[in-house]
This record gives sequence, C-alpha cells and structure tokens, in this order.
Amino acid sequence: MGVVLRNLFTGPVTRRYPFERRQYFDGSRGKLLFHPEYCEFCGECERACPTGAIELDTAWDTRRQDYSIVWLRRYDPFKCIFCGNCVEACPYGAIELAEEPAAPGYRKEISVDEIPNWQWTEWVAS
Ligand code: SF4
Ligand code: SF4
Repeated sequence: MGVVLRNLFTGPVTRRYPFERRQYFDGSRGKLLFHPEYCEFCGECERACPTGAIELDTAWDTRRQDYSIVWLRRYDPFKCIFCGNCVEACPYGAIELAEEPAAPGYRKEISVDEIPNWQWTEWVAS
C-alpha cells in the first residue's frame, strides 16, 4: 500500500526524450574532435593509436597551380575504439574527446582534415 501511495505522488521515472536528455557521466569518452588550427603535424597521434585509425599524409594541392603540398590527417571512426591515447599523446592540444557520443554512421566514411600550415607547405614544395 505504501508503494502505491508513493508512486501516486512522485513524478515519472522516465525522461521525456528528446526534450529532456540524460547528462553525460564524468569522464565519458565520446566523439573525437580535431582542431587542425593547433596541429603541428608531429605524428604523435598516429604513433600512439593502437588501431591505425589516424593517418597523416601529404597530397598535391590541385586547387592551386603552384605545385604546393597540403598536409592531411585522415580519421577512420570505424577503427577508433575511443581509448584517448591520441588525446594524451598530442603535445599541442589539437585533439579532444568530447563527452557527447558520436552519431551513428550510415556509411563507412573516413574524415579528412586539412592542416592549415602554408609556411611548411611552401618549405616542402621548394
Ligand atoms: S581514440 Fe584511440 S583508437 Fe581512436 S583515434 Fe585516438 S588513439 Fe586511435
Ligand atoms: S594532432 Fe597533435 S599529435 Fe597529431 S600530428 Fe597534430 S599536433 Fe601532432
């Protein structure tokens, strides 16, 4: 009887999702955020990744006609186990693990970020 009365006067135990969302737990390892503007292309993240989800590369820039090189960082979310090794290894704070989980992927897509460091680009191309 006590339980019935208590349940009559307490609110629902469920949330009105999606209007009310659960807070993420402290230290949750969600999606990986990359900040290319801080990246120095040192390669520590690529070396620290146990699954090969991060790959650094260079490519000829086809948008400009001066044979310059662009610096690229490829990230395969389907290989990532969200261990956080790359975040710890990055000396420049260019990678972050957000608490928010990554959205489910419908297609196997690799994200490619360009590292905007044109000084090095010109040095390598010369
Ligand atoms: S979180 Fe772990 S698995 Fe994912 S890219 Fe970073 S080092 Fe690799
Ligand atoms: S993200 Fe960080 S660790 Fe990876 S190449 Fe850039 S600066 Fe180096």
